[in-house]
Amino acid sequence: MLDTVDYVGHDSGTKKSVGKGTITVSDVSIVFGQGADEHRAVDNTDLIIGAGEFVCILGPSGCGKSTLLNSIAGYVKPTTGMVSVDDIKVEKPGPDRGMVFQQYSLLPWKTVFDNVAFGPRMAGISKRESSSIANTFLSMVGLTKFRHRYPAELSGGMQQRVGIARALANYPSVLLMDEPFGALDAQTRLTMQESLLDIWKESGTTVVFVTHDVDEAVFLSDRVLIMGAAPGRVVEDLHIDLPRPRDIDMVFEPAYIKARKSCLDIIRTESKRAFELQNQ
Ligand code: ADP
Ligand code: MG
Repeated sequence: MLDTVDYVGHDSGTKKSVGKGTITVSDVSIVFGQGADEHRAVDNTDLIIGAGEFVCILGPSGCGKSTLLNSIAGYVKPTTGMVSVDDIKVEKPGPDRGMVFQQYSLLPWKTVFDNVAFGPRMAGISKRESSSIANTFLSMVGLTKFRHRYPAELSGGMQQRVGIARALANYPSVLLMDEPFGALDAQTRLTMQESLLDIWKESGTTVVFVTHDVDEAVFLSDRVLIMGAAPGRVVEDLHIDLPRPRDIDMVFEPAYIKARKSCLDIIRTESKRAFELQNQ
């Protein structure tokens, strides 16, 4: 059951989250297993992500990206340290933190419209108001025409748009996305990246987006947090100095190429270190 939606700090009557969604990760370590099986998935990590920022967590498979994201979502409890959102300690999942996974996680027996209206209804918002919220966010993701369809009748990209609308319908101050476009073909992925930037701008939420794709991270972000493995930690916090609004032609610009190269250099150094460590 969802908690009551918190409209404080939300610009009432519009879709925009205002001044909320600051994430603080203080000295967080997350350890799985015990004794010989102990695995430090996230090690002594400190981070501040500002309200309204678009931040990507980039790193190879298994370096702890999902674990770190899940600690912000409230699905994983830090072994030591603390995560807070707007100075409130994260203890469990909540409607202030919307989550979008690679798997679309829609309710297959409900229409697109009902999938999006479901969160507000569960939060005790009237049917009329929930319908209006669903219409607002379906329009934002460009699916108004498809609102009476069922998830199985939509393409992967469209289903993921519904997933985003569904997360936004709770007016989260933070949108957490775990490789959300990983299952999509390259072309759909590009379109989704462009529309996500439009949606982000319109909704005003903080976005934390996990990916292992360097191009995706550079194209989308204000900042790229590059993680390394063994133990999992942020090895670099890279500011992406590209103007907005962005479009895909930007990938040919020198500033884009430079940012991409910086990411690749750091990833290469980090992979080499991990490889040497494994072979010691
Ligand atoms: P990524 O998302 O970067 O691919 P994960 O955060 O999923 O990496 O996992 C980081 C490490 O922690 C991996 O070695 C993974 O096997 C381990 N891990 C993740 N979740 C658990 C869990 N619930 N129990 C035990 N080990 C886990
Ligand atoms: Mg993962």
